[in-house]
Amino acid sequence: MAIQLRKSYKFALRSSFLITVFLATSIIVFLFLKDELDWLFVVLFAFISFIISFTILQIRVERFIYRRVKKIYDDVSLLESSSFSSKPVTTDMKTLTQEIEKFAEDKKIEIDTLKIREEYRKDFLGNVSHELKTPLFTVQGYILTLLDGAMNDKKIREKYLERANKGVERLIYIVKDLDLITKLEVGGLKLEEENFDIVELIQSVFDLLEMKASQKNITLTFDMDYPEPIYVNADREKIQQVITNLLVNSIKYGHPKGTTEVSVENLIKNKVIVRVTDNGEGIPKQHIPRLFERFYRVDQSGSRTEGGSGLGLSIVKHIIEAHDEKIYVESEEDVGSEFSFTLEKTENNSE
Ligand code: ADP
Repeated sequence: MAIQLRKSYKFALRSSFLITVFLATSIIVFLFLKDELDWLFVVLFAFISFIISFTILQIRVERFIYRRVKKIYDDVSLLESSSFSSKPVTTDMKTLTQEIEKFAEDKKIEIDTLKIREEYRKDFLGNVSHELKTPLFTVQGYILTLLDGAMNDKKIREKYLERANKGVERLIYIVKDLDLITKLEVGGLKLEEENFDIVELIQSVFDLLEMKASQKNITLTFDMDYPEPIYVNADREKIQQVITNLLVNSIKYGHPKGTTEVSVENLIKNKVIVRVTDNGEGIPKQHIPRLFERFYRVDQSGSRTEGGSGLGLSIVKHIIEAHDEKIYVESEEDVGSEFSFTLEKTENNSE
């Protein structure tokens, strides 16, 4: 992009005027002293002096500034130096100043973005190693104890191997979550939208999690009968992930013998809202604003048995926002939590 530089004569004009005044005064004094004052000569002399000094100054200044300005442009790579060809020779510093200011501003924004990214990277790496350390040390602990002789006792051997396996399972799902969140955050999320029945999808997630829920005597259920399908337009697989994460959380943080209820309600003409409500431990108010952050956990100690990678809810938020939809949370400690999200409703199934 070639910028338009204005040509200015002001500097040369003023300087030539001053030189002319000085020379003309000198010549007047000189001729006066010699008693040969000739006004016609003085005027002619002044005129010629003015023309000569103006020409020299203008050419010199243009050349000088052109060379300097071109060097600045080359140095800061503001423009392709070729686009700054010798044609618009300039004495206009205003345009250059504006360009430099803009350049500095752009660079500042660039540096700030890089700093934020670097901070994010450090933060992310720190969190990842922290998350992986705990299960790795657990597995290592059991294996070392087995090697130290515990493996000779059949009962202990089995128990420790099972626990080591649990640790490995935990490692696997942390890595899976990390893989998913990296894809979501780095690559942008590509949605494969289709029309599908949300009621059927929720039922299939209920079936998949039935075992897990029954271990804690938790009932997964709809709030009422949904005899008719409710079609939505979204990425089926990703929404399955959202429902799974929310239901898994309701089991993990639900009280034994509790209930998780799912409802699908019409919101406005073309929207439905899916609510996942549990009567579990709930979330203290001060934690709610940060709940969807990566690696954020209410119980930071990591001492409790339940708890995953701390990525579940941030994955949910990413997916819902990629659909241009909203996610909400309401919760009260010792009463329960309700996570809800909106989806676009469609009239019929296109399949
Ligand atoms: P995690 O892997 O720790 O479950 P999440 O991102 O899924 O990570 O959840 C973040 C935190 O939010 C959890 O550590 C938990 O404290 C809290 N939380 C999420 N869902 C519920 C729920 N249904 N009831 C109570 N607390 C919840």
